[in-house]
Formats: sequence, C-alpha cells, structure tokens
Amino acid sequence: MKVDLKGLDLQETEQWFTGLGFEEYRARQVRQWLFKRLVNSFEQMTNLSKDLRGILEHKARITQLENIKTQVSSDGTKKYLFRLEDNNLIESVLIPERDHDTLCISSQAGCAMGCKFCLTANQGFRRNLTPSEIIDQVIQAKRSLNNPDRLKNIVFMGMGEPLANFDAVKKALKNIVHDDGMNFSKRRVTLSTCGLVPPLKKLGNEINVKLAVSLNAADDKTRNMLMPINREYPLKSLLKACKEFPLPKGERITFEYILIKEVNDRDLDALRLSELLSGMRAKINLIPLNPHRGTHMNPPSMERILKFQDILIKKHFTTIIRKSRGRDIGAACGQLCGEQEDP
Ligand code: SAH
Repeated sequence: MKVDLKGLDLQETEQWFTGLGFEEYRARQVRQWLFKRLVNSFEQMTNLSKDLRGILEHKARITQLENIKTQVSSDGTKKYLFRLEDNNLIESVLIPERDHDTLCISSQAGCAMGCKFCLTANQGFRRNLTPSEIIDQVIQAKRSLNNPDRLKNIVFMGMGEPLANFDAVKKALKNIVHDDGMNFSKRRVTLSTCGLVPPLKKLGNEINVKLAVSLNAADDKTRNMLMPINREYPLKSLLKACKEFPLPKGERITFEYILIKEVNDRDLDALRLSELLSGMRAKINLIPLNPHRGTHMNPPSMERILKFQDILIKKHFTTIIRKSRGRDIGAACGQLCGEQEDP
C-alpha cells in the first residue's frame, strides 16, 4: 500500500525516507511542498530529482478531497462540499471576519452522537476521517483564497465529534500547528466537543489547543434529552473533567450553549448555568438555535436571548451571543449535512 504522506508527522516522514535509503532532510522538503506551498502532486516538487519524484509517485500518495461544490453566502461565508474517495461527503465552512478568516472543519463523515438539535446527527455515523482528510480541508481552503495568509483560525466544529476520532484528530492537529507543518498558532485552533470525558482528559495531557465544550443545558434531565451522550457522562463528570483540564495561563474554556425556545431558555436555566460554571475559567457563547429541516425546535425571541445573556453577565461571565453566519446556504452551526442538493 502507498503511504499517505500528509498523515505522517515529521519524524515518521524522516524515518520513511531513511528506510528507503534517502537523506533525512528530504522529509522537510516534501513537507514544505505539502503544507506550505500547498501542491498536490509530486511532479510539482521541483527541488527533488526526477528519479526521486518517480519513486515517490510509486510508493507514496497525496490524499486529495474532491471539491464538488462551493457555495457563497450573502454574508461572505463559504461552504465547501468535498467527496471522499469512498464517495462519502463532508463539508467545511470558511467564515471571513474583519482581519482574518476562520475555517470550520469536519472530523467525521456523519456523527454518532445523536444530538437532537443538530442536522449532522440526522444522517447517522458514516466513518471517521483520516488525518490527511482532516488536514486537506485546511489545505484546500487556503488554496482557494486570494490571500491564504488571512486564514488564521481553525475550529473543529464541522461534522462529527472530534474526540470520537481522537487519534486521527491528534495527528492532523500536530501537522496543523507544528512549524514544520502548517504552522497555525495553537491559540487559534479550537476543538469543540459534546463532552466525551475519557478522551477529553487525554486531550489535555497530549495536545495543547483551545477547548470548547457544547453544554447546551444546565441540568441533566434537559441535557439527557438534547444530548444522549449525557447519559454516559453526566454534567458532574463533564464539569469535573473541565475543571481538571490543564489550561495555559490566561486561557479559558469556552462553553457553548444553544438557546432553544421553551427548552433551556428560562431565567432559571441561566442561573443554573452560572452556578455550574462558578469558579471556573470560563467564557460562554450563546448560540440561538439555527432551525433546519431535521428539527421542530426554534430559537427564543431576541428579547429572551438578551435577558439570558444579561443574567450571565451580571454573574460576571464573559458571555457573547454568537452571530450565525451562512444560514442561507445551510452553513451555520448544526446545519451541515454533507449533501449535494439543498432542500
Ligand atoms: N461535535 C462537536 C463539534 C460539532 S458541533 C460538538 O458537539 O461540539 C459544533 C457546535 O454547533 C456545537 O456547539 C453545537 O452545540 C452547535 N450546534 C449544533 N446544532 C446546532 C443548531 N441547530 N443550531 C445552533 N448550533 C448548533
């Protein structure tokens, strides 16, 4: 089988080259081409001899997602639909902001978590993405930009639960942040999880990126209903893991809370949320539910949302209301389904 070079780290690439009898520094050269110059063929690696390129062609491959559609929202958000080699479909979303762009990437085709408000959950779980399928979303988005250096932030908030695909996500993350890879700042890469406690503990010890936790409810009964994973890892165990998460100085965990009309939007819910997070280095992102065809739930009124925010601010939490971007093209949180035709 051909080795998939984008899925290896520097050391593995060096070992692979020396195992074939080549110089170790070839690894850095090839990684430059892949991760900095963003080429998609060995032929373009012009500082390698023709012979070496021929051998690479034979023994290695460069995974390429097939970009079969790009939609652009009226607010500038772009949604890329990619076909994997086995025909599964995934999506990534590019969100232009004032002085930089953010890319939201997928970690799985489909998702097994079954959250009631999320469209990805509707389609069930297809499979885990490989490290190179994860990182190729970043490479392709960069390639499509007039100014690739504007892409500064990466969020794992697309399709799938990243901690359910821990090993591949970790490998991709390493190549995203290492200076011999894509060299993104660790402080600008965020992994968002629904709260898988055992891999959350591992994450803290093994990779140093920013953490976001999708809380979405402040009591177990409501959370069990919205997010079945809560039956396995209830709030108490999840918050304990968050409290123990090794945070760098000055950093906070972001807690995401989708606001759903008459489900989790009462004053009492805000108060409970403030109690749950009291004493933690936390930041709260309120996300008014994005409606889609897979749910009957609705967002609260703006008045209710502002009241909810106000209660949290009075309790001294940094609380922002996340603007939804790209709704008109089904690119907002929870609207990704990896389908070719929109309804
Ligand atoms: N599985 C990971 C990452 C994907 S979801 C996680 O759960 O965090 C990314 C974010 O979108 C989560 O915070 C999730 O709560 C939110 N989300 C899902 N469906 C949504 C919807 N219909 N409206 C608004 N936000 C939604």
